[in-house]
Amino acid sequence: MKHYAIDQWADFTQGLLAEPEHTRLEAHLKGGCQECLLLWAFTTKLIATCTGLATDPVPESAVRLALAIFPVQVRLKRPKKLGSEPTSAKSRRSCKRASAKQMQGGEKLG
Ligand SMILES: [Zn+2]
Repeated sequence: MKHYAIDQWADFTQGLLAEPEHTRLEAHLKGGCQECLLLWAFTTKLIATCTGLATDPVPESAVRLALAIFPVQVRLKRPKKLGSEPTSAKSRRSCKRASAKQMQGGEKLG
């Protein structure tokens, strides 16, 4: 009997599997495989827990504390090389100041 891996059960639980894979896993469970039933039950609980964590808002004080413990590394994006226009030293300095302000403000950068 072919069993399915935990990542497949996680995808099944979240409804991420396309057909006919979804139907195959569902039939496998209905066939009574205890090994896969345990994995399915585990992924179901895991995903419910993770979903619950994701919907709970994180207190602002916890975010500030986390940022103090794990400082956000900000990397300045290098401007794309368009022709021969150099980036002036003045604009580089203003970029560094802007990113330092963003780090102090705890803003998340994309
Ligand atoms: Zn199985």
